[in-house]
Amino acid sequence: MSGFCADPEGSVGAFLCRAGQHLRAAAIPQPRMEARMLLSHAMGVTQEALLRDPRAPVPGAAAAHFAEMLRRRLDGAPMAYLTGSQGFWTLDLATSPDTLIPRADTEALIEAALELFPERAAVGRILDLGTGTGAILLAALAEFPAAFGVGVDLVPGAAALAARNARRNALGERCAFLAGSWAEALAGRFDLILSNPPYIESAAIAGLMPEVARHEPLSALDGGPDGLVAYRALAGCLLRLLAPEGRAVLELGQGQEPAVAALMRDAGLRVPGARQDLGGIARALIV
Ligand code: GLN
Repeated sequence: MSGFCADPEGSVGAFLCRAGQHLRAAAIPQPRMEARMLLSHAMGVTQEALLRDPRAPVPGAAAAHFAEMLRRRLDGAPMAYLTGSQGFWTLDLATSPDTLIPRADTEALIEAALELFPERAAVGRILDLGTGTGAILLAALAEFPAAFGVGVDLVPGAAALAARNARRNALGERCAFLAGSWAEALAGRFDLILSNPPYIESAAIAGLMPEVARHEPLSALDGGPDGLVAYRALAGCLLRLLAPEGRAVLELGQGQEPAVAALMRDAGLRVPGARQDLGGIARALIV
């Protein structure tokens, strides 16, 4: 922060200096980067533009917007809810408190799908159960150019946000989003079924990072007493929804592979394996 702290009162540099100090004092891991992200969002300019001219004045409205975002960030609100967007795979997605914020670990599902279907044009129909922002379905549609996708979410606000994200990424013509409970209202068969269901054990929610536990929607996190309630619902519908050569790829919580694989096998499905995420955790179960 030191370089900016000598910049004149009211300048970009002075705002970055002071915000960085507050964020660091709150033990936010990347205070400089977050200060830049928030100020660039408040001023509507790129981070590069901020760094090019740190002596530029911050206009009053931007300063007020910045102060409000900084206050909420210091109160623990996730960055993606403040800036309203999050990168996932090759996409930029709008976020809202109706949905989980897309995580890098979830990209393991896309990697697994690409490995399962090296012939990209062979994938015609994709389903995403519990679609949230639409991240997983939209990333898959970006990779499988011949596919049409359906995304379902229990929360109507999530289905609406996902539809907006489809348009934002020029994929709106290739998918539809529905509000509903898992696959209840669906018929037909899909080549690829994707899901990142809620899988945290109810009693463990309070122990998650406060940023997650206090701000992200419980409906996207809480997997019931044993964390497996959503997988039972999935086990009950995958056989009916998968095409003969179809595959499902399901996100797993840490250590859940054996239990979820057993549920799927009991439902008459084959489970050839799982793919690890960047941290080496079995994250994407292939069904
Ligand atoms: N991976 C999320 C977390 O760590 C949980 C997401 C989920 O339950 N599907 O908070």
